[in-house]
Amino acid sequence: MAEIIVQGFPYDKKSSFLKGASKAPPLIREKLFSPSSNTFAENGVDINNAGTLDKGDFKISDYFEIEKITSKHLDEELRILTLGGDHSITFPIVKAFAKIYPRFDILQIDAHTDLYDEFEGDKFSHACPMARIMEGGFATHLVQIGIRTLNTHHREQAKKFGVEVHEMRDFKTENITPFKNPVYISIDLDGFDPAFAPGVSHPEPGGLSSRQVIDVIHGINQKIIGADVVEYNPDREIGELTVVLAAKIMKEILGKMAENNSKI
Ligand code: MN
Ligand code: MN
Repeated sequence: MAEIIVQGFPYDKKSSFLKGASKAPPLIREKLFSPSSNTFAENGVDINNAGTLDKGDFKISDYFEIEKITSKHLDEELRILTLGGDHSITFPIVKAFAKIYPRFDILQIDAHTDLYDEFEGDKFSHACPMARIMEGGFATHLVQIGIRTLNTHHREQAKKFGVEVHEMRDFKTENITPFKNPVYISIDLDGFDPAFAPGVSHPEPGGLSSRQVIDVIHGINQKIIGADVVEYNPDREIGELTVVLAAKIMKEILGKMAENNSKI
């Protein structure tokens, strides 16, 4: 029996600066099962036995189909890990989760807050998903880590929505407030320092290390109900640095989610 669904949205139409993230999902999957590593997460869970069911990738023309497809999958299983795609996909996914879960928190790893009220005339740009989520009340609490591009508008939006912003310049893992609700994790790969993840559309120096993010994931004190890994842009890749990291993060999240499987 499956307990965690994997779905992919090869979609980058709402990426403002560069396209390319649409190519990411099959590349991350391939790397996850590459013989260059094994399938054990660091907590001892073999993700081959973690109860995952991979539904494959969904090529969509209409952005709002993402919510419908995610809702259909949530009718089958209560937890989903999604591969993007640009970060715009997180809003319709979270909207679908909100129909099932009355209360949950979001942990967002990102160089950017993605709190723009609108960006270049698009309210659903990859620069806006967290504004849409918070104004709609679809998540209870939003915690952002890795932030290092704040402008005045972002600060105002963060204040308006009560977002817990951990700026990179004074980030300490122990300052993250323990979660009070189930957690949805959204990993924008540009939250990592470009030295660890160069293959993104908006590289921003001064970011998180691989180890810091893995430690934050391992330290989550509540059940993880869903996650996404977004913004891998193979066109900007150097070697295989970013895709190997994306696959490692996917493995660690699946391992952590599987800790909550009924059979474990
Ligand atoms: Mn970003
Ligand atoms: Mn983002």
